[in-house]
Amino acid sequence: MEEYFYPSSLEEAISLLEADKDIRPIAGGTEINLKHKDVDCLVDLGNLGLNYIKSCEGGVIIGATTTIADIEESPIIGQFKALHDAASCFTGSVKHLATIGGNIAESVASSDMAPPLIALGAKAVLVSSKGERVLPVYKIFRGLRKTSIKKGEILKEFFLPEESKDSKNTASSFQRLGRTEEDLSITSVAVRLTMERERIKDAGIGVGLAAPIPLKAVETEKFLRENGLLVERASEVLIKETNPRSSIRASREYRLMLEKSLFKRALLECGERLR
Ligand SMILES: Cc1cc2nc3c(=O)[nH]c(=O)nc-3n(C[C@H](O)[C@H](O)[C@H](O)COP(=O)(O)OP(=O)(O)OC[C@H]3O[C@@H](n4cnc5c(N)ncnc54)[C@H](O)[C@@H]3O)c2cc1C
Repeated sequence: MEEYFYPSSLEEAISLLEADKDIRPIAGGTEINLKHKDVDCLVDLGNLGLNYIKSCEGGVIIGATTTIADIEESPIIGQFKALHDAASCFTGSVKHLATIGGNIAESVASSDMAPPLIALGAKAVLVSSKGERVLPVYKIFRGLRKTSIKKGEILKEFFLPEESKDSKNTASSFQRLGRTEEDLSITSVAVRLTMERERIKDAGIGVGLAAPIPLKAVETEKFLRENGLLVERASEVLIKETNPRSSIRASREYRLMLEKSLFKRALLECGERLR
C-alpha cells in the first residue's frame, strides 16, 4: 500500500476518495484486509463521527461506522429484533471491529446485516461532494462485491422506519444456519410482519445466500399481503423467487430446503412475538 489517510471530516474524506487513483474507504478493516490487499490507498473512516445509534423523526438512524457489537448492545436496536438477533450471530472479537457500513458496502450474499435491514425496510444515506442521496438498502447490492456506491461516495448512515419497530402490531425475526456457530451463514432469512385487525398489512422479507446478492423477496411479500399466513404456500413462492448456488459450504438443493425451513421458523417466531 502506498498511502493511508485518516481524515477528521466527511468533506476531507470525500475529496480524498474523489482522487483519480486506486483508493478505497476502510472502516473496521475485517474484509478489506483480507479481500482487497492490493489497493494502493486507503481512507480510514474511523474519525468521521459516524459511530452512533439515535432516534430521529420517524425512526432510528445508525451511523455507518457503528460496530456490530454496539448494535447488539443498543437498547434502541433491541426494539428491532431481527437486526438485534443478526448482530448477536457474529461471534468472537470480529464484532468489535466489523461495522454495519462495511458489511453492506462489501456486497456479499453472506452478509448477516443485509436480510434484517431489507426486511425492516431500511434506507441507506450516501454522501458525496454533490450532496446526499437515499436508497433502499436492497438497491445497494448490484452483484458480488459490486454496489451502487459511486466513486467518491461514502455510506453515511442507515434509517430504520418507526413502523418496523417490534410492537403490538409488528414483529420481526432473523434465522440463520452456519456449519458451526462461528462459521459464515449457509442461508439466512429475516421476516417482518405488520398486522392490522388480524390481517397482514405489510411484510418485509430479506434472504441471504439465496442469490449472488442479498435478496428482497418481493413476490413472497406480495403473496403474504394478499393471501395471509398460508405458510406452506408462501414458502413455495419463496423458493421459486430465489436462486442459490452450490458452494464449498452447501449445495443449492440443501440451501433451498434450508430457506424453506428458516422462513417457516421466522414466521413462527413473528407469530409468537405478536402474541
Ligand atoms: C473472522 C471473521 C468472522 C466474520 N463473521 C461474520 C458473520 O458472522 N457475519 C457476517 O455478516 N460477516 C462476518 N464477517 C465479515 C465481516 O466482518 C463483515 O462483512 C464486516 O461487517 C465488514 O465491515 P468492516 O467495517 O470490517 O469493513 P471493511 O473491511 O473496512 O470494508 C469492507 C468494504 O466496504 C467498504 N466500506 C466500508 N465502509 C464503507 C462506507 N461507510 N462507505 C463506503 N464504503 C465502505 C470498503 O471500502 C470495503 O470495500 C466475518 C469476518 C471475519 C474476518
